[in-house]
Amino acid sequence: MNLIFVGPQGSGKGTQAKIISEKLNLDHISTGDLLRNIEGDIKKKVDKYVNKGLLIPDDLMLEILKKQLSENFILDGFPRNLKQAEMLSSIIDIDKVVEIFISDKEAIKRLSGRRTCKKCGAIYNIYTNPPKKDVCDKCGGELIKRKDDNEEAIKKRLEIYHSETEPILEKYPVLKINGEQEIEKVTKDILKGLK
Ligand code: AMP
Repeated sequence: MNLIFVGPQGSGKGTQAKIISEKLNLDHISTGDLLRNIEGDIKKKVDKYVNKGLLIPDDLMLEILKKQLSENFILDGFPRNLKQAEMLSSIIDIDKVVEIFISDKEAIKRLSGRRTCKKCGAIYNIYTNPPKKDVCDKCGGELIKRKDDNEEAIKKRLEIYHSETEPILEKYPVLKINGEQEIEKVTKDILKGLK
């Protein structure tokens, strides 16, 4: 089964993609994580876009993603626009898109509280899903605030989401999920919808 998870920044799309991929034994491919962990000469170029909340060029994104694509995956963060959706459909079939929706107001609130483990990538929120201490519950790693979780970049990312990413939803069968619920309830709704 090949799935795409779509949702505005802060919708819990990454958190849910992680949980569901483990439960259904699918690969979790997050383009945001791929770009944040990229090394070598290309890092400088990628950071220039990511830190401002801008999308990196489509061709470069596809080149990076292609190396990671398998069968049976959840794609988290790709496609982000119609051009990327077209590129993807020429190389692989997608069974369903899971759209996790929340309001912009909620997205802004959540992003300002988001913290990510530097070591294992676990995601917390100091308001809604805080760690027990001030390190990662799972591996003890340092919790950091993403560089693009600042007010200006957050606004830019939401703007791009509505104008460029939302239109891709018309290209796929979509399972719509209310993301303004507890994490466990969102997971339950997704699993029920995928049955
Ligand atoms: P995310 O972790 O999904 O919020 O992605 C963080 C950042 O990585 C985005 O704001 C973009 O700068 C970049 N990025 C992630 N996925 C893509 C993509 N499919 N196309 C272009 N840029 C991307």
